[in-house]
Order: sequence, then C-alpha cells, then structure tokens
Amino acid sequence: MAKVLDGTRCSKCSMGYYARVGERTGGFSGGKAVAGAVIAGPLGIAAGALGKKKVTYKCSKCGYTVEQ
Ligand SMILES: [Zn+2]
Repeated sequence: MAKVLDGTRCSKCSMGYYARVGERTGGFSGGKAVAGAVIAGPLGIAAGALGKKKVTYKCSKCGYTVEQ
C-alpha cells in the first residue's frame, strides 16, 4: 500500500513538509497501463489498472509535488 506522506519532510528541499492537496479516485491511468503492457504484457495492464487511487502531496516550502 502507498505510504501516507502527510506531515513528512520534503525529499526535495528537506525543509518543508508535505501536505495533502488533492486526490483522484476511479480514474485508471491509461498511459501507465499502456506502458506497462509494453514492458510486461497483459500483467502490466493489470498492474496499471490497480493504481486507482492517487493522492497528491505538496511541499509547504518549495512547492514540490508528489503523487502516490
Ligand atoms: Zn520541499
């Protein structure tokens, strides 16, 4: 499972902290699935479809964003 980044230190600037800024559910990444298919075949498509929930975190200091 994805690690929760709320309140953890930014890996980019190491001064700010991540805060949750957005969340996407239900959307499956077509591009990711296609890339997975190229690399891993049908199993890659399944792996792409599993990434349904994406949470976006943003650093309070430098604005660096991370999506998980
Ligand atoms: Zn930062």
